[in-house]
Amino acid sequence: MDPHEKTELVVQGIPASKGIAYGQVFLYLQSELEVPRYTVDAGKRAGEVARFERALVTTRQQIAQVQAQVKKNLSEEEALIFDAHQMVLEDQALISETIRLFETSGLNIETCFHDVAQRYIEAFAQIDDEYLRERATDIKDVTGRVLRVLLGQAALNLSELVEKRVIVAKDISPSEAASIDSSAALGIVTDGGSRTSHAVIVARSMKIPAVVGLRSLTSKVKDGDWMIVDGYDGLVILNPSQGTLLRYGKIQDDKKFFESRLMTANELPAQTLDGVHVTLRANIERPEEVGLVQQYRGEGVGLYRTEYLFLNSPSIPDEEVQYAAYRKIVEGLAPAIVTIRTLDVGGDKPLPGDPHLIGPEANPFLGFRAIRMCLENPELFKTQLRAILRASAHGKVELMYPMISGVDELDRANQLLAEARVELKLRNLPFDDKMRVGTMIEIPSAALVAEALAEKCQFFSIGTNDLIQYTLAIDRGNNRIAHLYEPAHPAVLRLIKQVVDVAKSLQIKVSVCGEMAGDPIYAPLLLGLGVDELSMSPPLMPAVKFLIRNTKFADARKLADEAMQFTDPKKTYALLEKFYNERATVE
Ligand code: PEP
Ligand code: MG
Repeated sequence: MDPHEKTELVVQGIPASKGIAYGQVFLYLQSELEVPRYTVDAGKRAGEVARFERALVTTRQQIAQVQAQVKKNLSEEEALIFDAHQMVLEDQALISETIRLFETSGLNIETCFHDVAQRYIEAFAQIDDEYLRERATDIKDVTGRVLRVLLGQAALNLSELVEKRVIVAKDISPSEAASIDSSAALGIVTDGGSRTSHAVIVARSMKIPAVVGLRSLTSKVKDGDWMIVDGYDGLVILNPSQGTLLRYGKIQDDKKFFESRLMTANELPAQTLDGVHVTLRANIERPEEVGLVQQYRGEGVGLYRTEYLFLNSPSIPDEEVQYAAYRKIVEGLAPAIVTIRTLDVGGDKPLPGDPHLIGPEANPFLGFRAIRMCLENPELFKTQLRAILRASAHGKVELMYPMISGVDELDRANQLLAEARVELKLRNLPFDDKMRVGTMIEIPSAALVAEALAEKCQFFSIGTNDLIQYTLAIDRGNNRIAHLYEPAHPAVLRLIKQVVDVAKSLQIKVSVCGEMAGDPIYAPLLLGLGVDELSMSPPLMPAVKFLIRNTKFADARKLADEAMQFTDPKKTYALLEKFYNERATVE
């Protein structure tokens, strides 16, 4: 069919995997699983539980097969997704709740399992953290598999796609994503999903352009329609006109050229045009990301969010488990610095291993989170401090506390750290006596008493994500007020400047590890304000480094001086954008 016969339709989604694709649509509409609901006769009840247990075993084998396939086709790292799936099957709460419901209701086991799983899926789907929300997808994927086995239906997969097409689906589960033949998929487009969906991770690793979050796109397209997938700007263009196709051909060439230049520049030092070196470190969530830090030439880690180790475990990890994870990162990156942040749970990151530790709260972001919870649970905290100290014997470690609001908390945390050191000495275990200790500045009160805090720690790391949220009273995860979340707000910039000025005058290091640091629009402003280090997710480094290499430090200073004069965040943003546009070009 000639694409020009139909009207062009442009739909905005979330850019998920870079690149541009053009081709015909393969509309993949999975039918909703129908679970029959009936009461089981008393005589057949023992058989139901045995049937459930057999289905769990069969599902486990299926997942192991898919995992082996992914390991072969993609990588060991991508295959780890399926460890999370196996963990769902081992979740005692899910299994015993199903059996309990079965015993009390007398309903068939499929219904009981479906109902319990649904409760879990809904609970995870409501969490404000993108990564944890994805656990709902994992549970949905695995429980769907179990139900298909129980109902005697074949497992879903995308292997039927044989000719080169753009896959359009409501959502793609990790198992389905794993069955995609990379030579047949031109692009991946979904109604649901987020940047951290497993389908997106798979798309990225296969270098397939992807756009997600397109809401009801599947109801607007037909199998065989022509489509452009713009994974840079998160656009999908249905039935593109001749003009659009020509324009996209050019965009594609320009973007490829720009990206290849960014990657080439990334091999060079992060140095301004007038010779000032800027340290770029990585934000990581898992020990497996050490390779990514090296690939993007990160000078060590500026923020390791240790809570992910806790969030991914069925129970609280003990000292040995923590030590092994921390050591893996420290050894893997030695002699570079690894900044390990102590547990930051609560708020948008509930602790699934022990719900009683935090419990339900009316205002979790203002509640019993991070250092507050740790100071009330000294044994749990000291276990982590000992594990971090022990890891410091294997390389260069810095430790930092999240969510410090004032001097008293820092004193109490340091006191527990001193106790942890003594405990290790008594056990004759080695650690770095000179390990530097820092404070995250992410609560306005901490920024305002920075001078007092600076006397009790060796560095500051500004967490702009939370600092903006608490300064402007804007929930960082609430889409409805996302337009009010303004990093360029003068109140935010004044707090950052105040912290940097204190750090400079008392000669302690100050870094920024919130998202602002990895945004090339804001990075020059932070440098101009005097920030020593920027820490960001590794794939963001090339663009930030490119800009640093095209900027004079003296100009960044002028930019900061000028930005501090503005009171309208929109004007500040326009100034920063102009600065960026003048430098982000390649010949
Ligand atoms: C921050 O608040 O800026 C930060 C880096 O911490 P997190 O995003 O983990 O809350
Ligand atoms: Mg924070």
